[in-house]
Amino acid sequence: MTCGKRSTATATTSAPLSWDDVPVTAPRADQPVPAPAAASDAPGAPPSPADVGFEITARHGEKARAGVLSTPHGEIATPAFVPVGTKATVKAVLPESMAELGGQALLANAYHLYLQPGHDLVDEAGGLGAFMNWPGPTYTDSGGFQVMSLGAGFQKVLSSEFSGGERARTATGEDDAVREGKERLAHVDDDGVTFRSFINGDVHRFTPEISMQIQHGLGADVMFAFDELTTLMNSRRYQEQALERTRLWALRCLAEHARLTAERTHRPYQQLWGVIQGAQYEDLRRQAARDLGAMDVEGWSFDGFGIGGALEKENLGTIVGWVTDELPEARPRHLLGISEVDDLFVAIAAGADTFDCVSPSRVARNSAVYTRTGRVNLTGSRYRRQFAPIDETCDCYTCTHYTAAYVHHLFRAKEMLSSTLCTIHNERFVVRLVDRIRASLQDGSFDALREETTGAYYGEAR
Ligand SMILES: [Zn+2]
Repeated sequence: MTCGKRSTATATTSAPLSWDDVPVTAPRADQPVPAPAAASDAPGAPPSPADVGFEITARHGEKARAGVLSTPHGEIATPAFVPVGTKATVKAVLPESMAELGGQALLANAYHLYLQPGHDLVDEAGGLGAFMNWPGPTYTDSGGFQVMSLGAGFQKVLSSEFSGGERARTATGEDDAVREGKERLAHVDDDGVTFRSFINGDVHRFTPEISMQIQHGLGADVMFAFDELTTLMNSRRYQEQALERTRLWALRCLAEHARLTAERTHRPYQQLWGVIQGAQYEDLRRQAARDLGAMDVEGWSFDGFGIGGALEKENLGTIVGWVTDELPEARPRHLLGISEVDDLFVAIAAGADTFDCVSPSRVARNSAVYTRTGRVNLTGSRYRRQFAPIDETCDCYTCTHYTAAYVHHLFRAKEMLSSTLCTIHNERFVVRLVDRIRASLQDGSFDALREETTGAYYGEAR
């Protein structure tokens, strides 16, 4: 396996995109859900978990590992950063550019694509990758995060004065601390979540089965089970209730995933990863990891795991460590929603394999860029005459073709190209960092790389 900065994805996108080599199996008539034990190499065999895999190729320290995640649309060398294209696009950047900058996979959001244009339409287009002209691996999240975060609106709707712990416990165990004057847009019950569209206010409902149907329609290689996202503002009692709900929903997700896999034999196998919640509580996190790690529904188990929910930065490594202590060693683990330099080192040391985050593109559109020596804002006057790259040590398309002075001008002039150039730079920065960490796991230089990188990024004092 190569660990070069532009390995898998670049090779697959230099030629015109082709779907000819995507495994297609013959349709089968009504059949009982098959157990996934047998490999499905034989022509006509249904898609099966045996079609995908994860191989650990190097280890470092107690828990860090490098590996290869195999999907029907290509391999992902791990650890890997998975850039986010929420609505089937990384905002302002061509998929071809994402491949060129070393992106190995893209993650889209089931909630947004369900609302617009609809998962049925994406299915009709041949699935997410075909629809967006991205031939490599794809992930979709379950939609739960957006349903609940846009619905309950952490900062927007929930009262910021409603702090967590024992103090947050209410008589009913329901933490409906909605800020005065705001309507709560999502309501959770044991069967699912009812929410209003952020686009037009229409009422929709997600259940574990509906999330699976949406994600199967979207057709990503890696899907996530529908879970209830809690916040640090929820009480311990509520966390327990939510975790039990997530466990029961995970069972339903596996059953529906099995049914859909058997039914949709014209599609390659889509992996389903269970999501570990439990907030900041060690016993809840460990219990959730044990429950989902051992979960089995008529022979179907999770192909990997996501680590989600409320995480305070200072506890990140500890919480990921509790979870990876309990999860099956041989299955891949995705940490949802991180991309900060120090967080990546911490999470990888604790045994996480892949990551996603909207931050690199979101902050880029607001003129913030990552450099070897920290994050800076390009609208500052000191960049007006910096006729040199944003970061001399960066090998991205932006830094090898444009000056910081030019990008500074684009921002000042409110030109759209500013977003494109900065997003390319920031995504490359994070992808390359994780690529370098992967290489360091293979040659044993992880600790030295961590010290050098975080020292330069945050200042030597840190
Ligand atoms: Zn750059």
